[in-house]
Amino acid sequence: MFSFDDQDLIQMLSLGTDSEVELDAMKEKKVEFRKYFGQLLSQSRKNAKSNECFYCGKKCSSFCNSHSIPAFFLRNIAHEGVVYNNHKLINMPLLDDDIGINKTGTFQLICRDCDSKIFSDYENPDNYEATPTSKMIAQIAMKNYLK
Ligand SMILES: [Zn+2]
Repeated sequence: MFSFDDQDLIQMLSLGTDSEVELDAMKEKKVEFRKYFGQLLSQSRKNAKSNECFYCGKKCSSFCNSHSIPAFFLRNIAHEGVVYNNHKLINMPLLDDDIGINKTGTFQLICRDCDSKIFSDYENPDNYEATPTSKMIAQIAMKNYLK
C-alpha cells in the first residue's frame, strides 16, 4: 500500500519549477527557444502532412481544422477568445499557458466533408441533454486518436 507524506504531495502538484533562478534563466531564453520550437513544430507538421484525407483517402488540398474538443465547449470556458492549456499546470515560462480557441486541441488530417459527417453526434450541443451514446464516446475516442 502506498502512502504519501506532505512533501510527496507537494512535488506531485508542482511539475515545473518554483526556483526563481531557473524561471529567470528560462525567461531570458524564451525568444530563442520559441524560435527553435516553432521551426521544429513547422517541420514536424510539414513532414506529417499528407495529400489525402486520413479517413476517406480522397485527395485533399485543404484539411478541416478539427477540434478534439468541440469549439462550442471551448467558447463556454474561454476568456477573451483564449483558454488555458496544460502548460498552466507546469510553471514553465518557455511555453504559453493559454491559446486561442481556433488552435486549441486541433488537428488537420481529414477533409471538411468527413469532419462534418463522422463527428456529427459529438459536435451537436443538443445531444448533451442526455447521457452520451456509445457512438458519441467512440467519436470522442477517434478525435483523441487523431489529435
Ligand atoms: Zn475525407
